[in-house]
Amino acid sequence: MDGKTLRKGERYYKSGRVLWVIKHGDRLFSKILGTYPYYVELDLKTGENRCTCPLGGDCKHVAAVMKAYENGFYFETFEEQAELFPEATAMEFLSEVPDLALDVTLKELRFALTTDESGSEVARLFRRALKLVALTGRKEALHVLEEVAGEYEHIFKDYKLSLKLEDELRELEASL
Ligand SMILES: [Zn+2]
Repeated sequence: MDGKTLRKGERYYKSGRVLWVIKHGDRLFSKILGTYPYYVELDLKTGENRCTCPLGGDCKHVAAVMKAYENGFYFETFEEQAELFPEATAMEFLSEVPDLALDVTLKELRFALTTDESGSEVARLFRRALKLVALTGRKEALHVLEEVAGEYEHIFKDYKLSLKLEDELRELEASL
């Protein structure tokens, strides 16, 4: 991989675009927020890699995952099914650390606002974030959710769903 790609990957990692990394044996699996969400697989022994971005691999997303790994940003699993369902494995790890789960969810949520044309993914992540705020009691996250709810209403003007999400947020605010 050339120096330019490595530097871009490092910037990606530092700006928090690597959502999670799962290590199983010599293999890494990761989700990265690029122009769209991309998924990387990387063999640490051979350097062979794949990415779901248009380049298909040897890209800044793979470089970002390498950086994340070097910095110890990964969960290690010994379970076979991680190879097939790395995202589920990542969620399992995150469910044990609700604070981190909330950070990851808020990142994905903001990102989804810019890429999700249906509004469904945003709503799903919004509701997960509500539950995680209730669980962690982190009131500062409410500001982010208010912003998201406002933008959601703006983008999806005629959705009843946007009013429901607002109500769910108000309900949570009242309960904290
Ligand atoms: Zn890529």
